[in-house]
Amino acid sequence: MQILDGKALSIKIKEKLKDEITTLKKDGITPGLAVILVGEDPASQTYVNAKDRASQEVGIYSKKITLPPDTTQEALLQQIADLNADNSIHGILVQLPLPKHIDTAKVIEAIAPHKDVDGFHELNVGKLSTGSAKLIPCTPLGVMEILKEYNIDPMGLDACVLGRSNIVGKPMMNLLLNAGATVTICHSKTKNLKEKTSRADLIVVGIGKPEMLQADMIKEGAIIIDVGINRLESGKLVGDVAFTSVAPKCSYITPVPGGVGPMTIAMLLQNTLIAAKNKG
Ligand code: NAP
Repeated sequence: MQILDGKALSIKIKEKLKDEITTLKKDGITPGLAVILVGEDPASQTYVNAKDRASQEVGIYSKKITLPPDTTQEALLQQIADLNADNSIHGILVQLPLPKHIDTAKVIEAIAPHKDVDGFHELNVGKLSTGSAKLIPCTPLGVMEILKEYNIDPMGLDACVLGRSNIVGKPMMNLLLNAGATVTICHSKTKNLKEKTSRADLIVVGIGKPEMLQADMIKEGAIIIDVGINRLESGKLVGDVAFTSVAPKCSYITPVPGGVGPMTIAMLLQNTLIAAKNKG
């Protein structure tokens, strides 16, 4: 069994991005990323701060915008319109989830597609399904980068994706399909889940259920990617995979923490650079 070290890969990618950004700056372009946080959710604050810090580390101009929880939808849409028109900003990210009184879909669609560094805009989602997307959702893109780094080619593999969210499961399905895997996508209504996971060569789990994928649900030598991040009452961070029992049975596995998580931020920075280069 080999550990897929997303932390180490993310550091390597950030070093490369730093060099590329230095070169781009010499051409007069400083990539700019705006991250908007509405409200005071502690987990979201942590994520936004991490994105802000990572941006600055690689030389991206980072604009962190914090809005109060009672911000109206109109005010948020106006903020996005201003950022769409701002030439110093190449990427716009609205931290999710948004407060309940705001229509998330409307907000995502308000972001200019070429600045949509989360890859959630319908235009970019459509492009992903046809295989022509430049801005791809960061977490599943991070998974593909990990596979590439360890020379794991999804071509011809039976892949099983657990979770069908727009952020993780669905784009993961499209990326694996585009890479030539035969993909089964499962969710909370799936019957006989174990039967599906047991025949998969590659399993990607993103469901938000601590240690749900157990050793008896996988076949010997399967490749296991754990997207889940769950904080137990004890304070311990665990994934959606029962790491201790699954690890000895599989060929490759991502740890939590230190697997997919750090790659998500690295891919956000990479998407910001792509957006900056596209715009010039
Ligand atoms: P989400 O929107 O809540 O979606 C969860 C998905 O899992 C849904 O499709 C749900 O099915 C499915 N599901 C729930 N219980 C299941 C079960 N017992 N068996 C099979 N499928 C089940 O969550 P998300 O935003 O995709 O996030 C998923 C996990 O990834 C969370 O732990 C989150 O913290 C983590 N995450 C990590 C990163 C990272 O950077 N590493 C980024 C994003 C998310 P239904 O559609 O039928 O409800």
